[in-house]
Amino acid sequence: MNTPSAHSAQQVTTLEHSCSQCDGFVEPELLSVYPSSQVCLDCMAKVDRARLEKELNQVRDLDRSLLPDVPALSGWDVGLHYRPSRLLSGDFYDVRAEQDGRLTLLIGDVMGKGIPAALLRAGLQSSLKALAPEVCSPARVLEKANRNFLDSASPGRLASVFLGALDPDKGELSYANGGHLPPLLRRASGDWQTLDATGMVLGALPNVSYSEATVTLESGDLLVLFSDGFTEAENSAGEVFDEREIARRLDQLPGLPAQVLASSLAEELATFAPGEPSDDRTLLMLRRT
Ligand SMILES: [Zn+2]
Repeated sequence: MNTPSAHSAQQVTTLEHSCSQCDGFVEPELLSVYPSSQVCLDCMAKVDRARLEKELNQVRDLDRSLLPDVPALSGWDVGLHYRPSRLLSGDFYDVRAEQDGRLTLLIGDVMGKGIPAALLRAGLQSSLKALAPEVCSPARVLEKANRNFLDSASPGRLASVFLGALDPDKGELSYANGGHLPPLLRRASGDWQTLDATGMVLGALPNVSYSEATVTLESGDLLVLFSDGFTEAENSAGEVFDEREIARRLDQLPGLPAQVLASSLAEELATFAPGEPSDDRTLLMLRRT
């Protein structure tokens, strides 16, 4: 059952948000994906919950199966490792050529686990997918997506999102980073730089503005995007596979195709922290050839 909070109290007047089985409210996360749901997650029959869980996992697997079509982009080499944890959790990513020729690069993480986090992830993902081609600026997209996210989330839910728009001919990448782990950029010279946050995580405040930054990728430069399932994976000694570790290992593997790099790094992580991951592991790499 839901505890009426400040957020759900605003919705008391909207009858369709009340659960038909209990006195609580239907979670906004659930309504954002199934607007006609009459019951809350707690009151949903076991069989329906299981089906929902399965569907949410399928949405996630669909991303992976759609990806191989996308990166056939002349002059660019893309690599991906995506290993969802068994529990429903919140990583998502996208690499997609828009109609105007730009490449959308996206990685994000909805904090928390279970059905509400997975529903929010699905909602945020489709909101970003719809906004990215319409709105040219990644910063404006994040501002709108933040408002949509707040409308569809229970209080206290947060998500980090890095969104980039790449001009594949010029190598110019405009991006906005809403509190996501800064992607690493390895220059062909071997120098590293980070694409730091340009605003806060989504879900914290209604009217957040994001700034936008631009970086130009030259031939041989490698961009590395990842989720905290990578950097927070611990070995038995309590050490983590952090950014420094990622950079150190990539320095030892120069010039390999992006997919080989992504797979090697994932294998090294699996050796470093063996067993079933407790969080999704996402690693996306893009090199200008
Ligand atoms: Zn209920």
